[in-house]
Amino acid sequence: MHLFNDLTRTKEKLTPQVEGEYKIYVCGPTVYDFFHLGNARPFIVYDTLRRYLEYRGNKVLYVQNFTDIDDKVINRAKEENISCQELAEAMIAEYFTDADGLNIKRATVHPRATECMDDIIDMIRVLEDKGYTYVLDDGVYFETGKYADYGKLSKRDFAGQEEQERVKHNEAKRNPSDFVLWKFKKEGEPAWESPWGEGRPGWHIECSAMNKRFLGDTVDIHGGGQDLIFPHHENEIAQSEAANEKTFVRYWVHNGFVNVDNEKMAKSEGNFFTVRDLSKQYPYSVLRFFMLQAHYRMPINFTKELLDAAENGWKRIQNFASNLSFLLGQEEKTATIADADLSELCERTKQAFEEGMNDDLNTADAFAAVFSLVREVNSLLAGHTFSHKALREVLDITLLLLDVLGLDPLEKTEEEIPSDILQMAEERSLAKKARDFAKADRLREEIIKRGWRVDDTADGTRLTRSE
Ligand SMILES: [Zn+2]
Repeated sequence: MHLFNDLTRTKEKLTPQVEGEYKIYVCGPTVYDFFHLGNARPFIVYDTLRRYLEYRGNKVLYVQNFTDIDDKVINRAKEENISCQELAEAMIAEYFTDADGLNIKRATVHPRATECMDDIIDMIRVLEDKGYTYVLDDGVYFETGKYADYGKLSKRDFAGQEEQERVKHNEAKRNPSDFVLWKFKKEGEPAWESPWGEGRPGWHIECSAMNKRFLGDTVDIHGGGQDLIFPHHENEIAQSEAANEKTFVRYWVHNGFVNVDNEKMAKSEGNFFTVRDLSKQYPYSVLRFFMLQAHYRMPINFTKELLDAAENGWKRIQNFASNLSFLLGQEEKTATIADADLSELCERTKQAFEEGMNDDLNTADAFAAVFSLVREVNSLLAGHTFSHKALREVLDITLLLLDVLGLDPLEKTEEEIPSDILQMAEERSLAKKARDFAKADRLREEIIKRGWRVDDTADGTRLTRSE
């Protein structure tokens, strides 16, 4: 596989430090509000990268943090008259509701800044010992001028940087790009003990500290949105490489923005759509499909029309899969097309899919391979019958490849099951638990009468619409 590395600005062959094992870090959300479609893009993109590496037989250690203390969290908590911790706790729960809906796998670890204070303080102490820090009236700063490679990711020319940037933060800074590692306590703000007095960490240091704690000095892949290249990722490099004296990240990957009328979707611009609100109009799977239809480095223009088109595209795949699954439930007829021909088609699809994914995670090409299978099989089915073995093979490859993209065309979302049916199923489970089998049977019959199948599986009770 090749991946575009922003450090070298070239597509590079991807290899891990340890054969068969990838260490990935992705900058996660600041938990003060619901996340919008633009925020969702990196979560979906890097989840897909992870899934593909796992599909290729690798083990993936995946870390995505929660920034649970910063100005936004403090201000919102004040507005809502609750503690920062209560706000963060609630928003992390909301994050998981949307992330689960979008089928984003749980990270190996989801560290929170407030749970990593010791790691953060340790790293600042190392930087201090090595002479990279200085103290001003409002906090401890990192002196970027002391780190020779500063700017290597963003390729900025700091010599010409505007004096304004210095003034914007603290006039006493030695270089305009110097940034705060530890902010001294302000009245009414949460604070932690440290060798420099009570305070809280700056934003950048938490990611460097968490990378070190959970993944070690060198990680294979670090991902985030393009807006994080500068200053966030540039500062992460400076902190980590100055402290650890090792290469921090081997492949830097950044995804493009989601735009609305050619402007980046952002809370500050007010032009955003939260995933939660959109999920009331479109299934989560449509939102994920929409996002992955584009190559991750390209900008996506968000319009309702494009979402509707994505919904139609996704429905075509869903109908295809449910048709195959329906045919498999029918009596087998004499096949009029050879199994070998269909096997060959499946193999070609898999190869085209992998070629797309191997080329810098080109999910657009990967979808094209799936759509081409849908088209070819549909046209074959118009004039031929398939053996069950062949139907199964086509369905299996479809499900396997889509699962790499985090999508399940046969998924039945809970919204599709009417609430009275769900309630009866719930009552039936309780009745079974209470060993009231007569009641459980009665409820089962009632559910069946209303057109639903009840299957007790190892994963719990499954409700499916009867054909
Ligand atoms: Zn970060």
